[in-house]
Amino acid sequence: MNISKLKAQLKAIAYQFNGPIWFSPDEQYHIRKSVFNHGINNTPLAIIEVGCEEDIRLAIHFANAHNLPISVKGGGHSNSGSSVVNDGIVLDMSAFKSIALAEDRQSVRLGAGVRNMELDAYTTQYGLAVPLGTCPDVGVIGATLGGGIGFLSRKFGLTCDSLINVTMIDAQGIKQTIDKFSEPALFWALSGGGGCQFGVITEITLQLYPVPSTVIGGFIEWPLSEASKVLKHYSDEVLSNTRDYFVYAYISRTAKGQEKVSIMAFSTASKSDCEVFFKRISQWGLGPKMDVSEKSYLEMQSNTYQSELCVYWRNGFVSQDLSAQFIDEVISCYINSPDDYCGIMFDPLGGAIQDRASQDSAFVHRKSSFICSVTGISGGTKIDPIIERWVDDSHTTLSAFYNDQAYQNYEFLGPDELKRYFGKNTSKLLTLKKRYDPQCRFYGSLSRHILKTEM
Ligand SMILES: Cc1cc2nc3c(=O)[nH]c(=O)nc-3n(C[C@H](O)[C@H](O)[C@H](O)COP(=O)(O)OP(=O)(O)OC[C@H]3O[C@@H](n4cnc5c(N)ncnc54)[C@H](O)[C@@H]3O)c2cc1C
Repeated sequence: MNISKLKAQLKAIAYQFNGPIWFSPDEQYHIRKSVFNHGINNTPLAIIEVGCEEDIRLAIHFANAHNLPISVKGGGHSNSGSSVVNDGIVLDMSAFKSIALAEDRQSVRLGAGVRNMELDAYTTQYGLAVPLGTCPDVGVIGATLGGGIGFLSRKFGLTCDSLINVTMIDAQGIKQTIDKFSEPALFWALSGGGGCQFGVITEITLQLYPVPSTVIGGFIEWPLSEASKVLKHYSDEVLSNTRDYFVYAYISRTAKGQEKVSIMAFSTASKSDCEVFFKRISQWGLGPKMDVSEKSYLEMQSNTYQSELCVYWRNGFVSQDLSAQFIDEVISCYINSPDDYCGIMFDPLGGAIQDRASQDSAFVHRKSSFICSVTGISGGTKIDPIIERWVDDSHTTLSAFYNDQAYQNYEFLGPDELKRYFGKNTSKLLTLKKRYDPQCRFYGSLSRHILKTEM
C-alpha cells in the first residue's frame, strides 16, 4: 500500500465530496483523529467529515477500489480507538445531528452524530427516554451497536433492545433500511453485534419509555475497611432483581487519596420507597457518607468524566453472585494499585436485560450478573507501564471468577476478543459478515478476526 499515492488519488477527487477531507498535517486531521482515550494515537490515511449520504458512497467506492479499511467515528469513545483505523479511511459522522420524535411519541429517530446527552435533553422534554449509558458524550449509535447499559436497563433493557430500525449504507454503497421483518438476521446482528461490522449507519429509530419528572439518586461511600460487607450486600441486591433500582459499585480513592468503596444508585420508584431503599443501603457498612437527592433524570445522566487522560481498561462478566473469595481478591488487587486514579468497578445486569434469551440478539451476556472492570488511568499520551501491569495482573487474577466473556462496548483488542464478546453467537456473526461484508471493508472486531485468522 503506497500511502502517499493513495492520498494524492483521494485529494484529486476531494471536490466530489460534500464534506471536507482532512489529511496529516491539517490541524483538523489531528483534532478529529483524537478519541476519548488519550493513550490512542492512530493515524488514518484520511478523515472524511461526512456531509451527506453520497459522501459515504464515494468513500466506500474509493476504499473498494484500493482495498482500504473504513472505520466510522460517532462519539469517539471506543476505548481502543477502533473508530479511527490506521492507514484507512475514517468517516466522521459528527454532522449527522438530526433528532425527531415520532408523531405517536413511541419512538425517536436520530442521526449518527447524536450523543447520549443530546438525545436525553431532547426526549426528556416530553417525559420520555431511551435506556442510555451514563457518559453524556458517548455516541448513541456506537453504544447501541454493542449493547448499551445504563440506569434504565433493569427496567427497560439495553439500548439495543430499544432498536426498531436502522438505515445503513452497505459495502457496495447501497442504502438499506433494516428492521426485524425486512432483514431479521442483519437486524439481529446489529442489536449488540459490535461497532462497524456491516456498514455505515446513518440513522436509527429507538423505542421510548416514560420517565418520571424527578428521580432519586446519587452516591454513598464507606471506608475501604467496609468493602467486604458492602460488596456482599451489593451482590445480594443486584441478584434480587428489583427493576426500579440500578446500582453501580466501585473501589477507588477519594480526591484526598483515601481508599473507599462506593455505590452510585438511581431509582424511578416512589419517594417513600426510595427513602426506605437508600436508608437500607446506607446500612450496608459503617460510616456511610451520603450524597443522595431528588433531581431530574437529565441531571442524573449528566455525569462528568475527566477527559484527556490515558485509559487502560480490562473487564470480564461474572455469572453468579460476587462470592466472598472473589470479593477478597478484588480488595487485594485494589490494595496493590499504584495510583490514586486506579479503580475496580461493577456494572449490574439483571432485570429486563434477562427477559430476552442470549440467542435472541447478538448480545450474548444476558444471563450474567455483573461486569467487573479494572481501570488504570494516567496523564500524558501513553499509559504508565506500572499502571498497565497492575491492570493486567489484576485482570489475570480476577479472570478465574469470570465466565470467559467480555463486554464488546468496553473494547480491548486482545487475541481472543471475538469469542469473549460474542460467545456462542460468534459463528452466526461470522457467517453474516461473510455475506454482507466479504472483503472486510468495515474495521470492526469481525474484520480484525477474519483478517488475522482466515486471510
Ligand atoms: C467514559 C466512558 C463511559 C462509558 N459508559 C458506558 C455506559 O455507561 N454504558 C455502556 O454500555 N457503555 C459505556 N461506554 C462504552 C461505550 O458505549 C462504547 O465505547 C461505544 O461503542 C462508544 O460509542 P461512540 O460512538 O462514542 O464511539 P466511537 O469510538 O465513535 O465508535 C465505537 C464503535 O462503533 C462504531 N460506530 C460508531 N458509529 C457508527 C455508525 N454510525 N455506523 C457504524 N459503526 C459505528 C465505530 O466504528 C466503533 O467501532 C463508556 C465509554 C467511555 C469511554
